[in-house]
Amino acid sequence: MGEHALLSASSSHRWLHCTPSARLEEEFENTSSVFAAEGTAAHELSEYKLRQYLGETVKRPVSEFDSDDLDYYTDIYVDYAIELITEIRSNCKDPIILLEQRLDYSCYVDGGFGTGDLVIVADSTLDIVDLKYGKGVAVSAEENPQMKLYALGALALFDSLYDIKTVRMTICQPRLESISTYEITADKLIAWAEGELRPRAKLAINGEGEFLPGGHCRFCRARHTCRARADEYLSLAKYDFKLPALLSEEEISEVLNLADRIATWAADVYAFATDLAIREGKEWHGYKLVEGRSNRRYTNERAVVETVTAAGYTDIYKQSLIGITDMEKLLGKKMFKELLSGLVEKPAGKPTLVQFSDKRQAISLNNTAEADFKEVI
Ligand code: SF4
Repeated sequence: MGEHALLSASSSHRWLHCTPSARLEEEFENTSSVFAAEGTAAHELSEYKLRQYLGETVKRPVSEFDSDDLDYYTDIYVDYAIELITEIRSNCKDPIILLEQRLDYSCYVDGGFGTGDLVIVADSTLDIVDLKYGKGVAVSAEENPQMKLYALGALALFDSLYDIKTVRMTICQPRLESISTYEITADKLIAWAEGELRPRAKLAINGEGEFLPGGHCRFCRARHTCRARADEYLSLAKYDFKLPALLSEEEISEVLNLADRIATWAADVYAFATDLAIREGKEWHGYKLVEGRSNRRYTNERAVVETVTAAGYTDIYKQSLIGITDMEKLLGKKMFKELLSGLVEKPAGKPTLVQFSDKRQAISLNNTAEADFKEVI
């Protein structure tokens, strides 16, 4: 695993909100997941493709994740990067183009550095592009602290040579078909760094400030046993229910507001306790390990075919069409659209209650839809 800053750019959303989290996390092992390894493979392959495009002689990396999928999705990012480079080159003769560039923002955050996947400096504009290979949630580049830290590192690198006025940050998530770009002036970025980042980073490096639970707890290494997080969620149980006997609409809104996060927290605690029980035989009061539910499966498909055929049964195969994603990969986006746009539909999903912050547009139910909905629930 590569070198890692305590106040890393990728975890900045967390330590900027909950400043003591970075030091608390040090008490837990920093384990790497298979998703992180897959992300590294995607970055290496993308870097190879872009270096090739830029005319460098490079060797194609080999990884255990090599697959059509990896090729397909890294191509989406690489195509976007090439389009951007082409556009910038049409306005600026000789832009600086850097791949996998170490960006040191330690002038604001003690020991802080990160890696910019694609950094382009053209006249007075700086572009930072970040590839995120995961397929969890779409991340917006708007006011994104990770991108701002990369940009500050790039400014520190080039500001003495170039008069950079505008910073453009882009997050590309090919598996979610999401590209998000945000633009800010260099002056505004530096004002944020001086006024907000520097003082918060100082608290974080010293393990000071208040524990502040929120959405940023999701990947915190302390999340399973963090007391502040537990207190926050358990506070709901202490809800002061008053008369009348039924909850008011305001009270229901309040419960909804916390329910999602409580579910995530409870799942985290469950996963942590299960892991300890399996790995270390830890016994939790009132709980035991049992075999989970499983589905039957054939141990040897060929022997099954031979046995039932010999017994006179012939109708044993089902043929089915490959799924839409696989079809799109097979045909390519353009051909898929050309051939099948009239034959693919996206039915309306079942109405779902989500938080206002969710990016999906609110729907209004007419009477018929309302009636349909009532039938399905
Ligand atoms: S779990 Fe949340 S509240 Fe606790 S230290 Fe981590 S980020 Fe802070």
